[in-house]
Amino acid sequence: MTSTMGLVIMGVIVVSSIIIMIKTYNRWGPKCAICHRTMPLNGMLFLKDGKVCNVCRNSVGFDHSAATVELAKDITVAKMILMQENQILIDPTAKLQAKKAAEKKQAQAQYQRYHEIKDYFKDNVTLRAGDLYISDTRRQIFLDISMDQEKYEVYKYEELVDFELKQTHVIQHIHEDGATTVVNGIWYTISDSDREISEISEIYLNMTFSGQNTKTRVFLDHTIPADSIDCQHALKKAEKYERVLQHVKDQPRKSPAKITFTVTSGK
Ligand SMILES: [Zn+2]
Repeated sequence: MTSTMGLVIMGVIVVSSIIIMIKTYNRWGPKCAICHRTMPLNGMLFLKDGKVCNVCRNSVGFDHSAATVELAKDITVAKMILMQENQILIDPTAKLQAKKAAEKKQAQAQYQRYHEIKDYFKDNVTLRAGDLYISDTRRQIFLDISMDQEKYEVYKYEELVDFELKQTHVIQHIHEDGATTVVNGIWYTISDSDREISEISEIYLNMTFSGQNTKTRVFLDHTIPADSIDCQHALKKAEKYERVLQHVKDQPRKSPAKITFTVTSGK
């Protein structure tokens, strides 16, 4: 009997909690970031940095289309308030199309710029190591960072502050287990001396450009014997970068522009 009573009490608590939640929705429900009215749970639009109600959504032309959702993701609350103030009414579908077209145009321009610069460095390369190209004619360094994303960086020779090739050596002590022999009834342990293996755990090169801008190229990131082919190969690659950068350093610095003082004699 008490368990039935318990269930009834539980039921009453749950039902009254729900009623209280509904009655007080205005107090705890989500508020519109612009007009601060409480919004129904299913009617809000998500902007980049907040959510807004249906009334505010409609006030700038946003509807319930997928185009609206897509555009809203990039619009801030501040921007939308500005749109309201200036009574800007957009057509979400047309706006999204225009936005995509602009993005495509920008990507094409970026692609073209990348290939123009890369072609120049390919044709006028003085020395090259991996993604590093230099051209004495332009006195510039080209870093071909990512071909897929058309990412690159160009520096003047003068901007190369320093470079450093680093390798970390590890000496591994291999303890040989001694063999045990019996001579004249006495146990002797013959222990060989420890064997040493020279290993390299990392090879990398830092290039520092002006403005404390450091670029790192990693050639080896795990421990392998120093005399292994892989290690020699990694070292060769790193040394090639070093030679290219040394060439840049060896170029005579352009003398700074002369400052001429014009002395005008006073009366
Ligand atoms: Zn609102």
